[in-house]
Amino acid sequence: MAGTVDDLLRLQLPEEDERIIAEYIWVGGTGLDLRSKPRTLPRPVKSVSELPTWNYDGSSTGQAPGDDSEVILCPRAIFRDPFRGGSNILVMCDCYTPQGVPVLTNARYAANKLFQLAPETEPWFGLEQEYTLLDKTHKWPLGWPVNGYPGPQGPYYCGVGADKAWGRRIADAHYKACLYAGIKISGMNAEVMPGQWEFQVGPAVGIEAGDQVWVARFLLERIAEMEGVVLSLDPKPVAGDWNGAGCHCNFSTKAMREDGGWDVILEAIKKLSLRHVEHIESYGDGNERRLTGRHETASIDQFSWGVASRGTSVRIGRQTQADKMGYLEDRRPASSCDPYIVTSKVFETTTLWNGITSTTR
Ligand code: ADP
Ligand code: MN
Ligand code: MN
Ligand code: MN
Repeated sequence: MAGTVDDLLRLQLPEEDERIIAEYIWVGGTGLDLRSKPRTLPRPVKSVSELPTWNYDGSSTGQAPGDDSEVILCPRAIFRDPFRGGSNILVMCDCYTPQGVPVLTNARYAANKLFQLAPETEPWFGLEQEYTLLDKTHKWPLGWPVNGYPGPQGPYYCGVGADKAWGRRIADAHYKACLYAGIKISGMNAEVMPGQWEFQVGPAVGIEAGDQVWVARFLLERIAEMEGVVLSLDPKPVAGDWNGAGCHCNFSTKAMREDGGWDVILEAIKKLSLRHVEHIESYGDGNERRLTGRHETASIDQFSWGVASRGTSVRIGRQTQADKMGYLEDRRPASSCDPYIVTSKVFETTTLWNGITSTTR
């Protein structure tokens, strides 16, 4: 019996009706916007191979001309749907022209090809997605006085209290939703700038990392929508003495996690330093406003690394130094990055490339 819209949203189908809803998700024409639409399937599914390809109007997402507007959706990864529950699913897709060519914003295609070249290296990623929640009316961070600023940074990072943490309902609901969906979310925290939060996905292997960060972003923006709050992935949402938002990429291969790993990590950092400029180009728009050398960042112009230092491009943690094996952290990627591009780029440079500059590109 349904008396309200909320009752209808929670309705369970009768048991003999096996049909489910699959929400197909894809990246739109800006390379950062998420789009999705649901379809009915006759019965529950277990793997992407059971899912039909589908299509959408690419002229409405900036991905196809009006006279040949169809873009093809290929299902790539399945997650449980925390909004609809039951056997309903979320489906992360990538996008192709009818001729089978990946569209411009389909970074998954090239990334997946790179990962398939050396799966035995077991690339693990931990991505720290930072984001800012904005008041819908004023497009100003949640909790900040309208046309004004809160007290200076200090009390907000991992802070508690009504005068320090804003948006916890969203951050916490998102954490649960990710766990339910089957995303390898490892934790989250309130950030240095008030109204800013972070969640971490990882360790995730190869292409799975990008799939999971994109679906985690989808869940976050949907939950924020429910609360009438705007999600911003701008790397520097407020100019001035306020921290920007990044997407640190923690990375290791099997060789880095084993005896002798320290040397493999140092070699990887050397290679990253040789390709600093092209990595910066791949790490998200607006990053030049964030990578200033202040607010826990390194300058965009110069590669640097260090142990336990947060003012460098790449950091090695104390534990990795002590164990002489472990992982490295690339702190350069912006919150606005495409995780498919960042993960595959880090993998390509550190693990596929031999490090000899003249024979590459
Ligand atoms: P920080 O100290 O920089 O804030 P976080 O704890 O926020 O780091 O995030 C670290 C991320 O790195 C987590 O998602 C974690 O699962 C991931 N991680 C841990 N070990 C490894 C590893 N060996 N390789 C890749 N990622 C890892
Ligand atoms: Mn972190
Ligand atoms: Mn952080
Ligand atoms: Mn970090």
